[in-house]
Amino acid sequence: MSDPAVNLYSDTQTLPGAEMRQAMANAEVGDEQRGLDPTVNALQERVAELLGHEAGLFLPSGSMCNQIAVRIHIRPLGDELYAHRSSHPITAEAGGAAAIAGAMICGLEGDGGIFSAAALEAAMRDPDDRHQPRSRLVSVEQTTNFGGGRVWTRVQIDEVLAVAERHSLRTHLDGARLLNATAASGERAAAFAAGFDTAWIDFSKGLGAPIGACLVGSRELIDEAWRYKQMFGGAMRQAGIVAAGALWALDHNVERLAEDHANARALAEGLAAIDGVTVDPATVETNIVFFDVAAAADLISALADDGVEMSEIDGRVRAVTHLDVDRAAVERALEAVASNLR
Ligand SMILES: *Cc1c(COP(=O)(O)O)cnc(C)c1O
Repeated sequence: MSDPAVNLYSDTQTLPGAEMRQAMANAEVGDEQRGLDPTVNALQERVAELLGHEAGLFLPSGSMCNQIAVRIHIRPLGDELYAHRSSHPITAEAGGAAAIAGAMICGLEGDGGIFSAAALEAAMRDPDDRHQPRSRLVSVEQTTNFGGGRVWTRVQIDEVLAVAERHSLRTHLDGARLLNATAASGERAAAFAAGFDTAWIDFSKGLGAPIGACLVGSRELIDEAWRYKQMFGGAMRQAGIVAAGALWALDHNVERLAEDHANARALAEGLAAIDGVTVDPATVETNIVFFDVAAAADLISALADDGVEMSEIDGRVRAVTHLDVDRAAVERALEAVASNLR
């Protein structure tokens, strides 16, 4: 099938534009493994500063950020990882947290991908009971992906971090869409990332770059992360070519995330007016819209025939706005949904 005219499958579907490609073509590069790629170094420093942490590490993907962080924090002695049941490390990384880090995994419940401090507290193990696994790491996803692009408030995060501190847990922020959270809330990225041992952002989602993510933490943790980057085969060479796309995205594609959020809200409001669709526009805080119809898979294949791409997740339909989806595309998607449910 050729490219769909309206691609709401994911915000990973963005294509690098001419100016981003120009910046990539012009990038100064060197051997990234030896720390000699100036563009990668600049990106790492920029993201460390943006998130208020000491050091950064450029990695090929967000999944590798999660996997390396989990591997650093978890000791393969039955240590337990707490994350929302729908979170990416639990649902979409091929079981890596178990296979690579040897984590015991505890999926927490909570609306919209957000669990409460009380839910975390209730899951804590007794450290003096050698029958039990050891509570070790909590991961927060900001924004929540399969939870529907919801934004954790700083208060909710603080409450979870307080439980983590009481139980000496390590803490990790999966910030694949952290800058969507900042755009939606007005909070600074560093404010959201404060208090976590490790955090990261993805460049290949709404920021629109083709490849890459950056993990941040203390110098000590990032040195440790480097070992696993090498081990996992994530060390690169002239990676400045792709890092330049990420830097360009940070300069040009952050402010405009608010447009994606407005488009997602318009999509949800339009969907709510269509018979046969169940959706609550009030829950659409960023660029992800989940909605329910009688037969999600049937609707998705019918939409694809009409040049509108969405995805199915657990029997629900997900539509994600991004820089290649404008308001006219939203209108076109709404017409396609309405005509297919008629
Ligand atoms: C996409 C995503 C990831 C993984 O990032 P990739 O760059 O696709 O590997 C991790 N966590 C969340 C919440 C995501 O949405």
